[in-house]
Amino acid sequence: MSHASPLISLKGIGKRFGTHAALQGIDLDVAAGSVVVLIGPSGSGKSTLIRCINGLVRPDEGSLTVAGRAVDIYDEGAWQGLRTQIGMVFQDYALFPHLSILRNMTLTPQRRRKLPRAVAEDEARKLLARIGLAHKADDYPSALSGGQQQRVAIVRALAMQPKAILFDEPTSALDPETITSVLDVMRALAREGTTMVVVTHEMGFAREVADRVVFMADGRIVEQGPPAEFFANPQHERTRAFLSNIR
Ligand code: ADP
Ligand code: MG
Repeated sequence: MSHASPLISLKGIGKRFGTHAALQGIDLDVAAGSVVVLIGPSGSGKSTLIRCINGLVRPDEGSLTVAGRAVDIYDEGAWQGLRTQIGMVFQDYALFPHLSILRNMTLTPQRRRKLPRAVAEDEARKLLARIGLAHKADDYPSALSGGQQQRVAIVRALAMQPKAILFDEPTSALDPETITSVLDVMRALAREGTTMVVVTHEMGFAREVADRVVFMADGRIVEQGPPAEFFANPQHERTRAFLSNIR
């Protein structure tokens, strides 16, 4: 891992929904090219945290730095810029149902990267070929299985050439057989040095692919470490209780 400043850095991030503190005092660094896996019980703030990284949720306090640039959390324009630099993959794929797979892939690159249509389509077809779905380019999302749709969602994010990709439980809606196909795509991205923050319950993936595992509870980071240490020797009772329930 490099000693350069982290690609993504959160300091003192807090977020309330009404009186409920969903995030409190979150400090998190993500090195360029690294994979950070975020785990924790339901409601612990994992989704809220990763959504703060691309502005889908605006934190109330704290600071966020991406690629060396401080994001003014009160500036709408800053968030807009961030959205095009940080990709996101959701549990429910979030493909546009009324657009073909190819159009799903080219829409944002044409609009935001200002790519001519032919170039965007060429790039999209190459990305679809990578996941073995070039022949589905003209189909609509509903014609694809869940695992196929999720693989499209991942390469759709990639088509924006983002600095990092955030994944929020990308395999939670999938059958066991298709989970592997999606995790394989994510493993390949990790090998290529894609910076990723992944919320997942797939502990095998965390052990194998994560550079760092971060455990959250009640809106706070309880502990974090490299997977070998984290899983072999969790420091906090809360972490041990969580791990014993999922294995
Ligand atoms: P996780 O992803 O770990 O399950 P979330 O980040 O979704 O947790 O939620 C953290 C807490 O914030 C939960 O108590 C949840 O109910 C609350 N919360 C999340 N989003 C909203 C929202 N938009 N409005 C109100 N409460 C929310
Ligand atoms: Mg969540």
